[in-house]
Amino acid sequence: MKNLLLELNLQPGVAIFLVILVTVIFVVATFFLIRGIKNERNRALAEKYRIKELDRESFAQMVSYEYTSANEDTHFTVMLIKITDSENLKTTLGEKQFNRIVSTVKERLVHVIPHGSKICTYDNDRIAVFIEEDMDAIGLTNLATMSINEAKKPVVLLTRAKIDIHVNAGIASNDEFNQSADEILQNIEIALANAISAGVDKYSIYSEELAVRQSEEYRHYKEIKEAIANQQFTLYYQPIYDLKANRVIAYESLVRWNHPTLGVLPPDKFLPIMEQTGDINWIGSWAFDRMLKLQSAHIKAHPEDENLIFSMNLSPKQLMYPHLAEEFRKIYKNYRIPPQNICLEIVEFAIFDKIPEVSSNIVKLTQMGFKIAIDDFGLEMSSLKLLENIDFNWIKLARKFIEQAQDDFLIGGVVETLVGFSKQKNCKIVAEGVEDEIILKYVKGLNIHYGQGYYFGKPLPYEEYLA
Ligand code: C2E
Ligand code: CA
Repeated sequence: MKNLLLELNLQPGVAIFLVILVTVIFVVATFFLIRGIKNERNRALAEKYRIKELDRESFAQMVSYEYTSANEDTHFTVMLIKITDSENLKTTLGEKQFNRIVSTVKERLVHVIPHGSKICTYDNDRIAVFIEEDMDAIGLTNLATMSINEAKKPVVLLTRAKIDIHVNAGIASNDEFNQSADEILQNIEIALANAISAGVDKYSIYSEELAVRQSEEYRHYKEIKEAIANQQFTLYYQPIYDLKANRVIAYESLVRWNHPTLGVLPPDKFLPIMEQTGDINWIGSWAFDRMLKLQSAHIKAHPEDENLIFSMNLSPKQLMYPHLAEEFRKIYKNYRIPPQNICLEIVEFAIFDKIPEVSSNIVKLTQMGFKIAIDDFGLEMSSLKLLENIDFNWIKLARKFIEQAQDDFLIGGVVETLVGFSKQKNCKIVAEGVEDEIILKYVKGLNIHYGQGYYFGKPLPYEEYLA
């Protein structure tokens, strides 16, 4: 190339331009060549395995056609594969990288599903497979295991970084119990929901018994999606008292679901399902925003409450979300509330030093100036060693712990030690579950700083306490 340019006797500027031009042409040509080879390889692969790719509508139509034209000897199987934690992956990696993950998983499935199967991107994080084969229980188990093993291999991203993928699979066959093609599609959803609740990389094969067990949870799952769309969640507030000053120092916000037919539902009816589906991050951000909005409006209307603390809960699953602190920072920016008037309650402190995302989130949230509370502190956590390396402002003693401490002299001693320790650490102890005067007297006698419980007030809508 250099000799050629010398021979042509070109100006240096023109020569550089030509070199750049040739390089660009070379890179672009290589890119298209590789892409062409890849497309061709995929086509050849699909051809080799005689796998047909469909969109969701044609997939449903095909299932319907196969169902109506099937006789009692024709069986077929439908499998639905869902990529775990897709919402987080999408937020962390972006839409493009995520789509790459979906196509990679799809390509991998092509290798393990039987010849003549049909495959489809069912919705953005789920892949459906139609298998025109009569499979017995062993066949179905093998199919599910092979599909999961193949799908869950790490995926190489555009940045060359490797990412671990997890999936779940739900399987349903056409048999004498199905009433319609729609029912088969519903059955794979039920099986998939069951697999998700069993944990990552698990599969589930639909059965009548499973349907009975799962139907309530599945109904809840669908209702939760509707509840999000229809804004049926709300926050209740419970006062936390300063036991010496005898006044409210804070309010803990507790989420509730205003269910259209069942009434107000407590968090244990929906948070565990939201943790499985990834919606916990949505409700976490929603609850933070909602609490700050209300806190901000409250301080405006009642300037005398400017030091009132508003507190909210964060579950371990939320803390594992790598962007939690950033998301909270963005929400917090919209309000002018001193950060020390916001408290984040965290359970299972023991996992901190084991999961980097969790400790990174906690460090960032602490740096933003929010108060941190160790929630539900119990006997099993009472090793003070655990507390040495963590910066926190409150230790909330679990209701059970207070109950035990009253009856057991030794446990009472642990609480006394904690109160002493809190002085050194400059943090406050909160007694949870103060239900009556006896408990109140007991916790006051131990010099516990704050108390929360039905004695002071149950969790209620904002208007009941604060308006
Ligand atoms: P938690 O943080 O330990 O909340 C205290 C729970 O104890 C609340 O139940 C409250 O109603 C109940 N409680 C308060 N005082 C008393 C009392 O004197 N006696 C008795 N028996 N119970 C009392 P709730 O509201 O059903 O909340 C249950 C759990 O749900 C909370 O436990 C918290 O871990 C979780 N949670 C609530 N809201 C949220 C939220 O917005 N995000 C997350 N991640 N978790 C939340
Ligand atoms: Ca709490």
